[in-house]
Amino acid sequence: MIEPVMPTYARIELDFERGEGASLYTADGRRYLDFGSGIAVTLLGHSHPALVKAVQDQAGKLWHVSNLYQIEGQKKLARKLTDNTFADTVFFCNSGAEAMEGCIKTARKYHSANGHPERYRIITFEGAFHGRTLATMAAGGQEKILAGFGPKTDGFDQAPFGDLKAAEALIGPETAAILIEPVQGEGGIREADRAFLTGLRQLCDKHGLLLLMDEVQTGMGRTGKLFAHQWTDIAPDVMGVAKGIGGGFPLGAFLATEEAAKGMTAGTHGTTYGGNLLAMAAGNAVADVVLADGFMDRVNEVASRFKQGLAAIVDRYPGVVEGIRGKGLLLGLKCVVPNGEVVTAMREQHLLTVPAGDNVVRLLPPLTVTDEELEKGLEAIESACAHLAEKAGAS
Ligand code: PLP
Repeated sequence: MIEPVMPTYARIELDFERGEGASLYTADGRRYLDFGSGIAVTLLGHSHPALVKAVQDQAGKLWHVSNLYQIEGQKKLARKLTDNTFADTVFFCNSGAEAMEGCIKTARKYHSANGHPERYRIITFEGAFHGRTLATMAAGGQEKILAGFGPKTDGFDQAPFGDLKAAEALIGPETAAILIEPVQGEGGIREADRAFLTGLRQLCDKHGLLLLMDEVQTGMGRTGKLFAHQWTDIAPDVMGVAKGIGGGFPLGAFLATEEAAKGMTAGTHGTTYGGNLLAMAAGNAVADVVLADGFMDRVNEVASRFKQGLAAIVDRYPGVVEGIRGKGLLLGLKCVVPNGEVVTAMREQHLLTVPAGDNVVRLLPPLTVTDEELEKGLEAIESACAHLAEKAGAS
């Protein structure tokens, strides 16, 4: 008999009641170290005082009025984002998939506004993940995600990740944009190298295309810059963000230059909930912490220590893990044994992590992870690898 909660997830038998910093506690008092952050969402850890206060204060005043009215919190957060990025304007929504749908719609509308409605196709890359709506599934192009949901939504052409020539070969008179994650998250913490991103920017400029970036997983400081593309000299025209931007409150956004957003006029796009007052209280609180002086320096310092610790573990257990990927606190351990076994072994050491494609385990501690939590995390990873190495040796 089907359960009342639709069984679309293979859930782990753990039920958390409370969280603080990087720790999660079950009702019976067991403590787990959370290096998954709810799949890259709880950027400031659990129960961050500034976030709790902002949401509690707002909850006592007003939650929701709809986008029929002015919302001061949207203006404030949009300004913080535009002041610190390539973008001139921001649309607030509720999730990553919605943010990416917004990017896709903005690109199509841009060409339509320029008198070229026939330019609607978007080039994406193998291994991508952009969400689970009909269009974002098609953009991601992964068979296992598309299977059984009817004809794939038209308008997406896919090239191998990192292959500039293949991407260029796909450009035709109907092409509107190129869409890429600067670091593929679900795909296995696969980083697009600088030359590739620069090459895509040049292709877009040469062919009059928009460059769309999916920074849903990489954004808001996760990689040690506010946005991952800021490690390079190039910028997109439109960018989708979500996950960390709300610190655990459902919030997404897409950001665009004035030129790219020229078609997004009143009535062209909307959402009932997007950017409501509670979400804006959370989003502004997260942004204030992340944008504070010195915050990102500490993220990079912690990340480099974490990477060093991981490198030592990789050296000691080459039969279990073979390399480290990623930037900042978006790290991946490339596994030799199946990644599911590594995630399980880490959970047995009370460390929560997330599997990704390409046999990778994602390590995504909160950006506020303390030195002590980091040490404990490394100890748990070491113990898990030791157990797996022993098991492999014994079998
Ligand atoms: N884009 C990327 C890069 C993601 O990692 C995700 C989610 O994992 C999404 C889009 C979709 O976000 P959401 O699950 O909030 O719809």
